[in-house]
Amino acid sequence: MEFSYFNDALLSFLHSSPTPFHATDSMRNALLKEGFVELLEEDNWVIEEGGRYFVTRNESSLIAFTTPQLSFSQSGWRMIGAHTDSPCLKLKPNAQVDRFGYHQLGVEVYGGVLLHTWLDRDLSIAGRVTLKTRSGDIVSRLVDFKDPIAVVPNLAIHLNRQANEGFSVNPQEEILPILCGAENDFDLHTLLISQLQKQYTDLDIDVILDFELSLYDTQPAALVGLHKEYICSARLDNLLSCYVGLQALLSSDLQRPSLLICTDHEEIGSLSACGANGPFLDDVLRRLTPNPELYVQAIQRSMLVSADNAHGLHPNYAHKHDKNHAPAINKGAVIKVNANQRYATNSETASIYRDIAAEENYQVQCFVVRSDMACGSTIGPITSGEIGVPTIDIGLPTFGMHSIRELAGSRDAYGLYKVLTRFTQREKLMTR
Ligand SMILES: [Zn+2]
Repeated sequence: MEFSYFNDALLSFLHSSPTPFHATDSMRNALLKEGFVELLEEDNWVIEEGGRYFVTRNESSLIAFTTPQLSFSQSGWRMIGAHTDSPCLKLKPNAQVDRFGYHQLGVEVYGGVLLHTWLDRDLSIAGRVTLKTRSGDIVSRLVDFKDPIAVVPNLAIHLNRQANEGFSVNPQEEILPILCGAENDFDLHTLLISQLQKQYTDLDIDVILDFELSLYDTQPAALVGLHKEYICSARLDNLLSCYVGLQALLSSDLQRPSLLICTDHEEIGSLSACGANGPFLDDVLRRLTPNPELYVQAIQRSMLVSADNAHGLHPNYAHKHDKNHAPAINKGAVIKVNANQRYATNSETASIYRDIAAEENYQVQCFVVRSDMACGSTIGPITSGEIGVPTIDIGLPTFGMHSIRELAGSRDAYGLYKVLTRFTQREKLMTR
């Protein structure tokens, strides 16, 4: 895939994926378009040599894989992992809040949101609605209002003179979006029904039963900077890696069995039925290699590249980095290392990755958190700890992780795509 097309498609992927449900749906559509076959977990699977398949769980996690050969215990898997969720504000079940003449929405904070970045943004609402049809079926549908229908205005500096010396946001009282004035009638279920009816004209809705909805910034992803060297967007963590992994899988030459796993709930620890700390990957791999002896052989001949964004050295906050481990934007993906296993990288998986990157003439950077600061984590150590697969944690350098608008390098994603594509074709990993 060409560089400029790659980045254009990345921007539209980011824009069309405001929630994990939509991100999974975007990937699902891309896979179907390329001839991948959708499997359902509740059905019998017939996996054929030369096949390309995918399966979703909870509509918010996805595993896609290719089967150029079926002796997985001999070939192992070339696996790429990422996560579909991002920190955000989610609507509470009884979300309607009426205060001082305004209709507002009660929200829960999902994950480590950088709360102040949500102020003064043109927000919309998207997610999944579960409803009962007039024929008695309970079904789910994705909704996306697309229009900016909500806003959380800042407080004037005249009413908070200390705002620039330190600013805190109370998540119960101070982050509630305003929808409209109380002189208007407002009922959330009525609003949802009218939006669903617009999106699904054939849907015969009896009653809305429940929903999982979140707010998002309507400003589209964009290339910025004097030379357009940056990508600014919501949810770069971690839709950037989902997209790169997806394109690498689609570009793999179908010589080696390759697998992409993108899971929900990473931002809250990954423990769920569809999260990396749940059984989703293990369930899929055991169906592909039911013999327990061969299953272990397959895992030990595999490698997982867990891709999740890294912290680039921010020129305004350089003291936050160890100066020997200070990744720069647009200088290549970052190998993430942590002695306390917050990252799963070891010297062998790092060496294999370095070798593949060198074959692509692609730079490699390295991140270790300052020894006097706590380290983040990701799906790498969780997946590795679940199934025992040799794993490396890597990621593209970014600024403003968990801001409503993050920044990455416009050259980095394409480079990583080339390296991961080569990884899916790699025959030999370690020599034992
Ligand atoms: Zn992440």
